[in-house]
Amino acid sequence: MKLTFWGAAQQVTGSMHLLTLDSGFQILIDCGLDYDKRDQFEANNKNFPFFPEDIDVVILTHAHIDHSGNLPNLVRQGFKGQILCTHPSIELTKNLLLDSVNVQQIEGKKKLRNKKQQAFKHRPSKADQVATLYNRVHVDQTVEAMKGIGFYQPYKINDAVEIELYEAGHILGAASVKLSIQENGRKTHIGFTGDLGNYQSQLVIDPQPMQGLDYLISESTYGGRLHIDHQSAKTLLLDYVLNTCVKYKGKLVIPAFSVGRTQAILYTFNQLYLEGKLEGVKVYTDSPLAIKTTRLYAEHVDQLNQEAQDFYKTNGTLFAFPDLYTLERSEDSKLLATMPEPAVIVSAAGMVEGGRIQEHIRHHIGDTFSTILIAGFCAEGTLGAELLKGRPSVNIGKRPKQVYAKIARTDVFSAHPDQAGLLKYYDAVGVKQLKTLFLVHGDSTSMTGLKSKLDGVAVEIPYQGQVYELN
Ligand SMILES: [Zn+2]
Repeated sequence: MKLTFWGAAQQVTGSMHLLTLDSGFQILIDCGLDYDKRDQFEANNKNFPFFPEDIDVVILTHAHIDHSGNLPNLVRQGFKGQILCTHPSIELTKNLLLDSVNVQQIEGKKKLRNKKQQAFKHRPSKADQVATLYNRVHVDQTVEAMKGIGFYQPYKINDAVEIELYEAGHILGAASVKLSIQENGRKTHIGFTGDLGNYQSQLVIDPQPMQGLDYLISESTYGGRLHIDHQSAKTLLLDYVLNTCVKYKGKLVIPAFSVGRTQAILYTFNQLYLEGKLEGVKVYTDSPLAIKTTRLYAEHVDQLNQEAQDFYKTNGTLFAFPDLYTLERSEDSKLLATMPEPAVIVSAAGMVEGGRIQEHIRHHIGDTFSTILIAGFCAEGTLGAELLKGRPSVNIGKRPKQVYAKIARTDVFSAHPDQAGLLKYYDAVGVKQLKTLFLVHGDSTSMTGLKSKLDGVAVEIPYQGQVYELN
């Protein structure tokens, strides 16, 4: 059989790996959007380097858009098979894909407006069509093709291929997938980690290692570094609330990804509230996608870690507390941005690329008493990354804004293991027994840093389009 690395090869986004059996049967593992070069978004995602109608089955590791976001395009271009994933991933993916349609339309309209303003000096009309990779109909067709399977329940795709899903501990429903393939009189076991979680995360369980593998395809997002924050999430957030909202009556603004990160943060605030430590400071969650996701986390509490399940049993809720306010309407979001009283604002997008968070940052970046706490990975070129460089002024929209607010960062909510976490996982997998460990989903520094710690292991760092014969 052949394994071809079509995405997340020597980069982080666009996960997509193709396994082609000698019989011609084709299995695609993940089908994510490639965001690494934003100016080439359409060129990188519109067409596939294979024929979508030839793919027999897709296995989706988890809902995040860099793993699921191009599935509707695959369906649009002729894929007719099933998409196998966990049950929570079906619901989470549906919400994320619908959000992706909206984002593509907004971005498309922005581009059109700029083009028209330059060319004709007038605004686009409602009749103007914006090109997107797919629309809501394709999202519906994708969701119809999805079939949920449970963790640790071996599932036969056909006589030659069986899969088993392991908990990856990254977000709700995230799976690592072990494929057992019967070919030429022998069985080969191939594991795809998907995105792994950080050990001892809020809400989700620790990543569970696959066993009995011949090959492992592993993420390596933070393979070149160690997480720096070692205090608990509660201690860290409380410290910022006391030193920003209580002491200076300022705002604590936290950009957060809607799926995974926001829930971990709200859960931590709920714990602080119940311990009576929030001192009446109100917490606002301002992202419609995050609110929908938060509901799904509460519905699937049985899939979360023991601590979260016990918390739910005791308190009857994971996230809701009297000082938490959820804002769905954009009018309320605008009011919140101008409200003078101290508060915590948790809003998307995590890298501060568009979304409601941008408006909150625009309002508070000039306030010496406010803090902007970056709680996740920010790709180069995003506003989040610019803020972290400590510049005296940044552009928001097209306008420069002076930075007077405190800019801080934390990795206490990280949803990926660092180098030590990955090495711990590899030990548990039995990495030295593998024929090959393939590193994906990381930049070159992460992958070479990780490889240097893996003496005696056959490590490959494939480039995009590279093909390997597995036997
Ligand atoms: Zn992910």
